[in-house]
Amino acid sequence: MLKTYSYPKYVYHRPPELSGAVSRRYPVVIVGAGPVGLTAALDCHLHGIPAIVIDDDDTVSVGSRGLCYAKRALEVLDRVGVGQAVVDKGVEWNVGRTFFGEKEVYHFNLLPEPDHKRPGMINLQQYYLEEYLVNRCNEVGIEIRWKNKVVSVAQADDHASLQVETADGVYGIECDWLIVCDGARSPIRSMMGLDIDGRIFMDRFLIADVVMKADFPAERWFWFDPPFHRNQSVLLHREADNVWRIDFQLGWDADPQAEKQPERVIPRIQAMLGKDREFELEWVSVYTFQCRRMNRFNHGRVMFAGDAAHQVSPFGARGANSGVQDTDNLIWKLKLVIDGKAPAALLDTYSDERCWAADENILNSTRSTDFITPKSNVSKQFRTAVLQLAQKHAFARKLVNSGRLSVPAFYTRSQLNTPDIDAFTGMMEPGAPMDDAPVRVNGHDPVDSWLLDHIGNRFQLIVYAKDLSRIDSAALSGLRQATIGVEPVIVTSGSDAVPGIRTLHDLRGRFAQRYDAADGTVYLARPDQHVAARWRTFDSKLIQAAVQRATCTLAKA
Ligand SMILES: Cc1cc2nc3c(=O)[nH]c(=O)nc-3n(C[C@H](O)[C@H](O)[C@H](O)COP(=O)(O)OP(=O)(O)OC[C@H]3O[C@@H](n4cnc5c(N)ncnc54)[C@H](O)[C@@H]3O)c2cc1C
Repeated sequence: MLKTYSYPKYVYHRPPELSGAVSRRYPVVIVGAGPVGLTAALDCHLHGIPAIVIDDDDTVSVGSRGLCYAKRALEVLDRVGVGQAVVDKGVEWNVGRTFFGEKEVYHFNLLPEPDHKRPGMINLQQYYLEEYLVNRCNEVGIEIRWKNKVVSVAQADDHASLQVETADGVYGIECDWLIVCDGARSPIRSMMGLDIDGRIFMDRFLIADVVMKADFPAERWFWFDPPFHRNQSVLLHREADNVWRIDFQLGWDADPQAEKQPERVIPRIQAMLGKDREFELEWVSVYTFQCRRMNRFNHGRVMFAGDAAHQVSPFGARGANSGVQDTDNLIWKLKLVIDGKAPAALLDTYSDERCWAADENILNSTRSTDFITPKSNVSKQFRTAVLQLAQKHAFARKLVNSGRLSVPAFYTRSQLNTPDIDAFTGMMEPGAPMDDAPVRVNGHDPVDSWLLDHIGNRFQLIVYAKDLSRIDSAALSGLRQATIGVEPVIVTSGSDAVPGIRTLHDLRGRFAQRYDAADGTVYLARPDQHVAARWRTFDSKLIQAAVQRATCTLAKA
């Protein structure tokens, strides 16, 4: 018998509101202890916002759900303290191969460049991700109320109130801000009468998690019309603990109940892997998928994030990956609003920026699903022609779409960006998610690390300097004193350090290369590791104006 996962059971505690405690108003309540709600709670903790989490269940995600966590989500998980556990347990991969029949027609590498801390993708069962997030919440003392079910929501101008059902009865709770991460069906979205628009895909997929010992490489393999599953597609991924995820496309007419039965599933797997391969079924489900999103993600005191706000098909692994990036975008903004340092209008930019990201994800996911499930004979003929041509011609490979995998959104249209006034090349434009680079922390005891380990959770000004003697440390340190303080960070090609300022040595010149940095170049980084502005020279007035623009506090001229 091969080992399978044993689900933790978290303990329900009678809530203080039902034990005679005086009901108090919480700064933030988060509904949903899925990957998005738990990440939001950890991010609140990092920003010093007291938050509690309410969930109607008492364990982690059951069955086959998310497995691929992309580089950007791993960077966010690093920031909240869970990235390393995910990487240690998960299966790292960068290469994906697509086959037509038996022949490989195309392959890609998610991370062709060296010198990034995190790989293109880590495969890990969603239950592990959630378990690590819960462990981290417990470590830092975040209260999670298991088996507490929100049954009604109302909001006033300055707060939201909830009714919560437990085994000990129903209680009421108030909060200044409510973050809703209650999943695709989002009961709170329905309670508030809010719409979510999009489309359902007329296809069904059998998803089997299979425990077996196999020496296939850690790569994503996708087949169109393979000999072992004619006229449909199949996807194979490796996960932790020798679990393999196999997705079989079934077609819309398939009977979901019948297809889940082992006597139907096992022959499909044997046809694929051969009759001699020993395996056990860990979990089997049949899914249909939708691509849809809410019109806005913020509604007064209530913020929606993750699947509650938007959903995509899994071809592209954009669900949890994008949900985690929602909270990355939201929490620093909420902190500034809670502290009275920014107006509530800053929260509108959460909705704007993450709606663009959701649209990009939905577009990519829809295109992949349309390629995998052609809607007409003409589309199917086009797909066959593309797959045949792709075996020989590079131009056709670009048209093969078995899922364009999750990449972070560039908020280049955001009102929070300060447009460039100086000339730059490369990708690190205002709105871009910041690229990583290997650095050495300078000083008496040098340590090799990564740029993104030093960036985040506050505004920072990254100054690239070849000659440290020209650094005006008093002016740089002065940035810390503003209402919204900015921490200076120096990246240098030399090996000296500036006392009192975090100084990083650009270990292999990757920072200079990726950020098109010359002596004196400065980058203003947002707390979520996105570029807010950049210049060729330091000018404290321009920097302060850029911080104000990035926080909606710039006085109108
Ligand atoms: C087959 C499949 C494969 C996938 N593969 C990937 C992948 O590879 N990569 C990826 O990034 N994503 C993937 N996804 C998507 C991913 O699973 C979801 O995007 C992710 O779970 C969303 O997280 P969430 O926290 O928003 O919601 P959920 O995980 O759904 O969590 C919602 C939580 O809210 C709780 N809740 C609901 N209602 C209430 C209530 N009234 N009161 C209190 N609590 C409540 C629920 O119990 C639950 O714990 C896949 C999904 C499927 C189905």
